[in-house]
Amino acid sequence: MTYVIIDACIDVKDESCVAVCPVDCIYADEGDRMRYIHPTECIDCAVCVEACPVAAIYADTDLPAEAQAFLDLNAIWFKDKDAARAQIDAQKPADH
Ligand code: SF4
Ligand code: SF4
Repeated sequence: MTYVIIDACIDVKDESCVAVCPVDCIYADEGDRMRYIHPTECIDCAVCVEACPVAAIYADTDLPAEAQAFLDLNAIWFKDKDAARAQIDAQKPADH
Protein backbone atom coordinates (compact mmCIF):
# COMPACT_ATOMS: atom_id res chain seq x y z
CA MET A 1 0.00 0.00 0.00
CA THR A 2 1.02 3.61 -0.46
CA TYR A 3 -0.55 7.01 -0.47
CA VAL A 4 -0.92 8.79 -3.80
CA ILE A 5 -1.08 12.45 -4.86
CA ILE A 6 -3.63 13.25 -7.56
CA ASP A 7 -4.28 16.10 -9.99
CA ALA A 8 -5.63 18.52 -7.38
CA CYS A 9 -1.99 19.18 -6.45
CA ILE A 10 -1.06 20.39 -9.95
CA ASP A 11 0.08 24.02 -9.81
CA VAL A 12 -0.76 24.17 -6.07
CA LYS A 13 2.16 22.26 -4.64
CA ASP A 14 2.09 24.23 -1.39
CA GLU A 15 4.15 21.69 0.57
CA SER A 16 1.89 21.34 3.64
CA CYS A 17 2.20 17.58 3.21
CA VAL A 18 5.99 17.76 3.11
CA ALA A 19 6.04 19.57 6.44
CA VAL A 20 4.23 16.72 8.21
CA CYS A 21 5.50 13.57 6.50
CA PRO A 22 7.58 11.68 9.10
CA VAL A 23 9.74 9.89 6.53
CA ASP A 24 10.26 12.69 3.97
CA CYS A 25 8.91 10.60 1.11
CA ILE A 26 7.04 13.37 -0.78
CA TYR A 27 9.19 14.69 -3.60
CA ALA A 28 9.38 17.26 -6.40
CA ASP A 29 12.16 18.98 -8.26
CA GLU A 30 12.21 22.59 -9.28
CA GLY A 31 9.96 22.88 -12.30
CA ASP A 32 7.63 20.08 -11.31
CA ARG A 33 3.98 21.09 -11.25
CA MET A 34 3.01 18.70 -8.46
CA ARG A 35 4.54 16.52 -5.79
CA TYR A 36 4.90 12.74 -5.79
CA ILE A 37 4.91 10.15 -3.00
CA HIS A 38 7.57 7.45 -3.14
CA PRO A 39 5.56 4.22 -3.21
CA THR A 40 7.88 2.12 -1.08
CA GLU A 41 9.18 4.80 1.28
CA CYS A 42 5.66 5.81 2.33
CA ILE A 43 4.72 4.16 5.64
CA ASP A 44 0.97 4.69 5.17
CA CYS A 45 0.59 6.87 8.23
CA ALA A 46 -2.03 9.12 6.54
CA VAL A 47 -0.83 12.28 8.31
CA CYS A 48 -0.46 14.10 5.00
CA VAL A 49 -4.11 13.59 4.03
CA GLU A 50 -5.45 16.10 6.53
CA ALA A 51 -2.58 18.51 5.92
CA CYS A 52 -3.35 18.97 2.22
CA PRO A 53 -5.52 22.07 1.63
CA VAL A 54 -6.93 20.74 -1.65
CA ALA A 55 -7.61 17.09 -0.69
CA ALA A 56 -5.10 15.78 -3.20
CA ILE A 57 -3.88 12.75 -1.21
CA TYR A 58 -5.55 9.35 -1.06
CA ALA A 59 -4.67 5.82 -0.02
CA ASP A 60 -4.07 3.73 -3.14
CA THR A 61 -7.00 1.54 -2.08
CA ASP A 62 -9.27 4.57 -1.87
CA LEU A 63 -8.44 6.46 -5.07
CA PRO A 64 -11.37 8.02 -6.96
CA ALA A 65 -11.96 6.15 -10.22
CA GLU A 66 -11.04 9.18 -12.32
CA ALA A 67 -7.69 9.45 -10.51
CA GLN A 68 -6.51 5.84 -10.91
CA ALA A 69 -3.80 6.91 -13.37
CA PHE A 70 -2.06 8.78 -10.57
CA LEU A 71 -1.12 5.53 -8.83
CA ASP A 72 1.25 4.72 -11.70
CA LEU A 73 2.15 8.36 -12.25
CA ASN A 74 3.49 8.80 -8.71
CA ALA A 75 5.73 5.76 -9.24
CA ILE A 76 6.77 6.76 -12.77
CA TRP A 77 8.21 10.07 -11.58
CA PHE A 78 10.87 8.22 -9.60
CA LYS A 79 11.95 6.28 -12.70
CA ASP A 80 11.43 8.81 -15.52
CA LYS A 81 10.69 12.38 -14.44
CA ASP A 82 10.26 13.69 -17.98
CA ALA A 83 7.65 11.02 -18.73
CA ALA A 84 5.71 11.95 -15.60
CA ARG A 85 5.90 15.67 -16.43
CA ALA A 86 4.68 15.03 -19.98
CA GLN A 87 1.65 13.19 -18.61
CA ILE A 88 0.88 16.08 -16.29
CA ASP A 89 1.13 18.61 -19.13
CA ALA A 90 -1.11 16.43 -21.30
CA GLN A 91 -3.69 16.12 -18.56
CA LYS A 92 -3.67 19.77 -17.56
CA PRO A 93 -1.93 22.12 -20.00
CA ALA A 94 0.10 24.85 -18.32
CA ASP A 95 -1.30 28.40 -18.38
CA HIS A 96 1.76 29.81 -20.07
S1 SF4 B 1 -0.21 19.53 0.55
FE1 SF4 B 1 -1.50 18.86 -1.17
S2 SF4 B 1 -1.32 20.53 -2.68
FE2 SF4 B 1 0.36 20.77 -1.21
S3 SF4 B 1 2.09 19.69 -2.17
FE3 SF4 B 1 1.07 18.27 -0.79
S4 SF4 B 1 -0.38 17.17 -2.11
FE4 SF4 B 1 0.23 19.01 -3.19
S1 SF4 C 1 1.02 8.60 4.31
FE1 SF4 C 1 2.57 9.25 5.84
S2 SF4 C 1 4.48 8.41 5.07
FE2 SF4 C 1 3.04 8.36 3.37
S3 SF4 C 1 3.37 10.28 2.27
FE3 SF4 C 1 1.74 10.66 3.74
S4 SF4 C 1 2.76 11.47 5.56
FE4 SF4 C 1 4.35 10.51 4.29
